[in-house]
Amino acid sequence: MENHILKIIVRKYGGSSVSDLSKIKKIAKKIAEVADKNTGVAVVVSAMGKTTNQIIEMAKKISDDPPRREMDMLLSTGERITMSLLSMALSKLGVDSISLTGSQCGIITDDRHNNARIIEVRPFRVQDEIAKGKVVVVGGFQGVSYKRDITTLGRGGSDTTAIALAAALNAEKCEIYSDIDGVYTADPALVSEAKHLPEISYQHMQEMSTNGAIVLNSQAVQFAKEKNIAIYTRSTFKPGNETIIR
Ligand code: ASP
Ligand code: MG
Repeated sequence: MENHILKIIVRKYGGSSVSDLSKIKKIAKKIAEVADKNTGVAVVVSAMGKTTNQIIEMAKKISDDPPRREMDMLLSTGERITMSLLSMALSKLGVDSISLTGSQCGIITDDRHNNARIIEVRPFRVQDEIAKGKVVVVGGFQGVSYKRDITTLGRGGSDTTAIALAAALNAEKCEIYSDIDGVYTADPALVSEAKHLPEISYQHMQEMSTNGAIVLNSQAVQFAKEKNIAIYTRSTFKPGNETIIR
């Protein structure tokens, strides 16, 4: 018997939201609250905290110019750690869940290792698991090339994973959770008069990203614009404000 899923939500948690085990457990609780028999949830996760930087440092101690293919094999492990731990935390709470790599989610890319572009998403496995009533936890930032090698999508690429998946699943919305509660007119850490923006256009967001605001990966915004996916950016642990990009 398959559940009848009425809507699908894609949610992404960035590295600072999953930087330790207690945060992973807290996030599992938040996911347990939204996943019910009418709502299918795919959760995209980044690597824990500074893991990706640490992994890059490790590789540099071996070689100053490591083969890019091997770099992707290495880099993709960061997100695999988070996705498996979060899936375990969900199971522990009695939430049926499964973790999947980018490759298993059908995220097909070109072969530009370390900075691959998504060519196509074939989300059949994700759809099957959601239809079985499972929360699907997805390793962000990674895909598989048409040559069947593991690729990564460039720094901050988990945003791109989330939006590409939301488009492929025809999701109702894509929620991006991080340590910031959305977009401001200026950096609130530096400018005290910075105003929070409840809603902005894709265009405006893209202009801000090129000026150095790092709320969202700029490729990801481009993707959302092309596919017309509304993005909700929120703070994971300080709920309240949000910025909707559409
Ligand atoms: N873990 C990767 C990075 O640090 C991808 C991401 O966080 O979106 O760039
Ligand atoms: Mg990140």
